Amino acid sequence: MKEIVVATKNAGKVAELAAALAPLKVVVRAVSEYGNIEEPEETGTTFAANSLLKARYYAQATGCACLADDSGLEADGLNGRPGVYSARFAGPGATDRDNNEKMLKELGEMPNAARTARFRCVLAFCDTDGQVMTADGTCEGVILQAPQGSGGFGYDPLFFMPEYNKTLAQMTVEEKNAVSHRGKALAVMVEKLAGYLS
Ligand code: IMP
Repeated sequence: MKEIVVATKNAGKVAELAAALAPLKVVVRAVSEYGNIEEPEETGTTFAANSLLKARYYAQATGCACLADDSGLEADGLNGRPGVYSARFAGPGATDRDNNEKMLKELGEMPNAARTARFRCVLAFCDTDGQVMTADGTCEGVILQAPQGSGGFGYDPLFFMPEYNKTLAQMTVEEKNAVSHRGKALAVMVEKLAGYLS
């Protein structure tokens, strides 16, 4: 196995996954290279369930080993919402901007102490024989009252990390991968994949 298809159409995620997989010297393929594969319905209620569902689905649909990501934001002031529904927080087909606006509206004037939140990521790998491996990561921060920075994707401009005095949108891909939920999960997954490939 020298090729891995990355099961996401999110360009931001593809960039982060490709950067972290670079040391493995595998060919990273995008789902779009395999034609117009219909997206599976993310019916799971946990990040792990959805991540495994996508890895299995795309490994079968492409005939290539697959790495999938399921991730999202848990805001403490919203009792952990939006969680697995982060991509569709503002409704079906919501843009990142719609979701950020909804987040700011729902948190309203809540003080910083109540605006704590975490990103969670579960990565799932599935090979063409159906063998699976998973890895997860979290990242703690605070939701700002207004966006800052233009990098990254999703909720990055609202997600401030006090220890770095930056939002995730103010970091380079390398800086973000060093501290983010996905970066932490990737570090574990890359280690597992290195063992699997050797
Ligand atoms: P998924 O593609 O179904 O896993 O949805 C994940 C959603 O969570 C994305 O659309 C973003 O809204 C959000 N999200 C996940 N990871 C990140 C991140 O690293 N930065 C910002 N938003 C993220």
